[in-house]
Amino acid sequence: MSDIPNMKGFHEDKKIVICKHCGKYEYWGKMIWLSGKCMCRDCYKAEWESNSGKVYIWNDLDGDKPTRKEYEVQEGVENA
Ligand SMILES: [Zn+2]
Repeated sequence: MSDIPNMKGFHEDKKIVICKHCGKYEYWGKMIWLSGKCMCRDCYKAEWESNSGKVYIWNDLDGDKPTRKEYEVQEGVENA
């Protein structure tokens, strides 16, 4: 699920990005490609459920999610 190529050779998995589909924060390493779109775990789950008509019952999409605060620290706007 997470074999995103990393051309520069450094570890970007923990970089925080904003999902274009729902606007939530997600770790880059947790973004998932589906149908040519890059989406966060929540969007993937919703997409999977609407495509399959089933409920996504596995817990592999759970776990830590970045917060707005972490994102602001990363972007250097913690004093905003
Ligand atoms: Zn999303």
